[in-house]
Amino acid sequence: MIDPFGRKISYLRVSVTDRCDFRCVYCMSEHMTFLPKADLLSLEELERLCAAFIAKGTERIRITGGEPLVRRNVMHFIERLGARLGNGLQDLTLTTNGSQLARHADGLFAAGIRRINVSLDTRDAEKFRAITRWGDLGKVLDGIEAARAAGLAVKINMVALRGINEAEIAPMMEWAHGLGMDLTLIETMPLGDVETDRVEQYLPLSLVRAQLAQRYTLEESDHRTGGPARYVRVAETGGRLGFITPLTHNFCESCNRVRLTCTGTLFMCLGQEDQADLRAVLRSTNDDAALARAIESAIARKPKGHDFIIDRRANTPAIARHMSMTGG
Ligand code: SAM
Ligand code: SF4
Repeated sequence: MIDPFGRKISYLRVSVTDRCDFRCVYCMSEHMTFLPKADLLSLEELERLCAAFIAKGTERIRITGGEPLVRRNVMHFIERLGARLGNGLQDLTLTTNGSQLARHADGLFAAGIRRINVSLDTRDAEKFRAITRWGDLGKVLDGIEAARAAGLAVKINMVALRGINEAEIAPMMEWAHGLGMDLTLIETMPLGDVETDRVEQYLPLSLVRAQLAQRYTLEESDHRTGGPARYVRVAETGGRLGFITPLTHNFCESCNRVRLTCTGTLFMCLGQEDQADLRAVLRSTNDDAALARAIESAIARKPKGHDFIIDRRANTPAIARHMSMTGG
């Protein structure tokens, strides 16, 4: 699949649920209203959609949410996708908050998953509770341990929050690299209404990088995972550090992905409103050719990029839907 700007679209992110057992302050409001269960695609329907994407040339799928591991029977879905590895699908990955990882780590490996991203913004239990509102740090750390023991490569994703976890970035990096895990830092993105003030939370990674460069030797690296992160190698730790900078550096020119929500809506860009209703097509016909045509026509509308801005004057988020809906 090639979009109008010549980008090869080979990566699908699938949000299997908009629900979550955490309420991270930058992601959700404390009293989130979730989609009625009846609106959700069944896991069989989601699998049929994934198969249609694989048939169209999708090589990589990342399962996300909401918290993917809180959806009932999700492991069965993951196993079914895993069975397609080597048959068009080359890579199957997962992004998780880690809360349920301890009991699923072995199953994920058995399903063919080899790499996962775990979100962790702090290793201070109280601060963890303050950021996630409902989370238990101990469970997440146990989950990370279980994943590593199961043979999964773990990458830690950390949202950089001004005045909240700023001072923990270097220690987090030392910890992650010490255990052989990559660390990727993410800027907060203006997605969905949350109670907290994003202008207050926003910490430009250009600043973080400059500060880290005073203490560490950051060597340019051409390592790419097909995502928006740009990596450096840290000479002192021997580990990799990634930066996802949607606001300070626009990463759209190399975008290779589209996002499918748990209701079967396809978003061609995280930062734009345009969408395609694949559920309607899916439910109206058993004809896979019709589904393929709907996917093609959506890809043909993929926009050039987003224009996120965190503006002191405007209080409204750039995009009304939350990250947990589109799938982070
Ligand atoms: N629940 C899983 C997790 O937390 O890893 C998967 C979904 S979550 C929406 C995916 C990623 O998006 C997480 O790393 C989270 O920190 C990040 N995220 C959520 N809201 C964000 C926002 N407004 N700006 C930047 N990153 C955000
Ligand atoms: Fe849940 Fe992930 Fe959003 Fe946190 S970032 S509230 S864990 S979906």
